Amino acid sequence: MKARIRRLPRSLINRIAAGEIIERPASVVKELVENSLDAEATRIKVEVAQGGMERIAVRDDGWGMVEEDLSLAVQPHATSKLASVDDLSAIETLGFRGEALASIASVSHMEIFSQTAGASSGQVLKLVGGEPRSSFSQAGTPGTYIEVKHLFFNTPVRKRQLQRPATEMAHITKCVRELALAHPEVSFQLSREGKEVLFTSGHATLDQTIVEVFGPDVMSELLPIGRPDGEFSGFIGSPNLARSRRDRQFFILNGRAIHHVGLQVVVERAFEGFLPTRRYPLIILQLRLPPQRVDVNVHPTKREVRIAQERELTGRLYHAVKRTLLGMSPPEWDLRCQSAGDAVGRCSEGRASTSRESQVRYQLSSIDGGDHGRDESGGHPLLSEQLVVLGQVDGTYVVARGPDGLYVIDQHAAHERVFYEKSLDALDNAEPARQVLTAPYAYEASPEEFETWLEAGEILEKMGFEVEPFGDHTLLIRAVPALAGETLSPASLGDVLVRLGSESAGQDPHHAAAALAACKASVKAHDPLSDVEMRELLKALGTTNKPMTCPHGRPTVVVLKKDAIDRLFRR
Ligand code: ADP
Ligand code: MG
Repeated sequence: MKARIRRLPRSLINRIAAGEIIERPASVVKELVENSLDAEATRIKVEVAQGGMERIAVRDDGWGMVEEDLSLAVQPHATSKLASVDDLSAIETLGFRGEALASIASVSHMEIFSQTAGASSGQVLKLVGGEPRSSFSQAGTPGTYIEVKHLFFNTPVRKRQLQRPATEMAHITKCVRELALAHPEVSFQLSREGKEVLFTSGHATLDQTIVEVFGPDVMSELLPIGRPDGEFSGFIGSPNLARSRRDRQFFILNGRAIHHVGLQVVVERAFEGFLPTRRYPLIILQLRLPPQRVDVNVHPTKREVRIAQERELTGRLYHAVKRTLLGMSPPEWDLRCQSAGDAVGRCSEGRASTSRESQVRYQLSSIDGGDHGRDESGGHPLLSEQLVVLGQVDGTYVVARGPDGLYVIDQHAAHERVFYEKSLDALDNAEPARQVLTAPYAYEASPEEFETWLEAGEILEKMGFEVEPFGDHTLLIRAVPALAGETLSPASLGDVLVRLGSESAGQDPHHAAAALAACKASVKAHDPLSDVEMRELLKALGTTNKPMTCPHGRPTVVVLKKDAIDRLFRR
């Protein structure tokens, strides 16, 4: 028989809330540190033992709480941060739901000490599973200390879901990094089993904090975007800093570390063509928006937010990132990699733009004077007008003299860039350039290829393919794309279909199709080129939007600057 409805006891309400808010030890760290930040602390110390499963302690030098507030603080829906419904539409604090302390206390052994400025003593409160066990006054220093032990001791299912201590610690480290980057004005200290693993000085500048968090090496690879007084500012990492995981992407909105898929996608789209697939850029972005434009009351953990006029904002962000990337100069040979038998500037194909050990560096200033504000249609006239072709090496690289040194151009990569942009244009044209075959070519498609053709047929047509089905497995090709005089072989339809099938899931299909067509049509390594052909290639490359990289994100050009040559000869 159906049971009668009854109100849940407070302890059960807290435990249910904890299920949402306190997913793992890192969630405890986040909530406690956010409280310290709301209390305007200038120094926050986090201690962790056993990945936080045994002990988490957060000490701050913030406002502290008076005795009455301390006992209220661990009650659910008790907060000093909201007073009326109106406050909810313009939240300026990190917390506002009044749930965190009550939730954490309900699933742990908690001890709090808090003392307000000017008071001669503070108050201690000890709880087990949310039930107060003792409370007494004690003399200490102003601020708050909260220790959480035996997390999830009374929720065995959640406890079993936890990972190894090292993994939980990694989550905690990411969380403290995020909070430290969000608050360069606050000094953070994180220690694990008594050993310091992170320290920021609180000297208020984002660059300094980034160096303290990631080490000094990253600084030379960071490209600034936005304006410190604008709606966003921060840094993107040069393609060299890209990683196979998104663990260096930080979005900070009004001091709150947030997850925002819309922002992340837009930044990654702007990087398309500058990075190989499945490589993710570093981004540290601080957004400052009027609190009225932001709704943080979306999820109990307050990590997800809704932003009013999001499209306009992401549009501006996309262009800012893209402009910055377009302003990059070609990677420079770095003499540091010239150690013990190492070839100068070794840039193995396919890895040069991503591997750290190749030490190819993108300079902040552009070779033609550091114009970061150039618009996208600008191109680098530099390549055609200022470079004098000297010859070809190994039938693979074009060598040219430029205003500031020696340029080496990967002919295949350069051709790919030219053809890629041509075929992207062709996709926009009503009438793509195509070559009609004298006799139709019958292509036996696999079931997957046939499926892809059904889905992507329109793109293929826009590229210049004219294809029709013939039975259930065969595709009849009547015409193939013609790119700047080069026609694709009808058999390459198979490659195009395979690539579209595997990549279109995560990528713009136009990009995938154009990149593949470009790769097929381009001159290969070891193809000898005449002087005229080399000059034509540089000229064409110079008119593209992104002459410095091929569509897969590899560099097309590297430069050995005059002063680097001088250093090589110890002048
Ligand atoms: P919220 O942060 O949403 O208000 P919490 O449960 O996290 O809810 O905290 C409850 C209240 O306890 C806060 O509103 C604040 O007044 C007080 N508090 C918690 N931590 C601190 C701290 N470190 N310093 C000063 N006050 C604190
Ligand atoms: Mg809070």
